[in-house]
Amino acid sequence: MSALLIPEAIELAAEHLRLRWIDGDVVLKAAGLRAECRCAQCRAAARGGHVSSVDRSLTLTHAEPVGQYALQLVFSDGHARGIYPWSLLRELSQVAERAESFSGSPALACECQT
Ligand SMILES: [Zn+2]
Repeated sequence: MSALLIPEAIELAAEHLRLRWIDGDVVLKAAGLRAECRCAQCRAAARGGHVSSVDRSLTLTHAEPVGQYALQLVFSDGHARGIYPWSLLRELSQVAERAESFSGSPALACECQT
């Protein structure tokens, strides 16, 4: 059994979400979070082979805790259905940390389903 992964602090800015995990702070960009949305609408679009391009100027407008397990994010494009469980945010944080440790271009997450 692993302990529940819940950030110690959350800071919402227009361009990013900053999460304070027990092992450090991580900044997740708004556009990156939008691309990772797992709501039914976005998953259906992904299944249909429709890769939506995320506007780089996209911003975060609101964040709201969902029970003890997730954060609901609202984006400037009006999309408000994205529920981001802490486990997903933790996953994204680990990718972000790894990307930051290299000075080159950040690694792209593989979207392979097979
Ligand atoms: Zn969505």
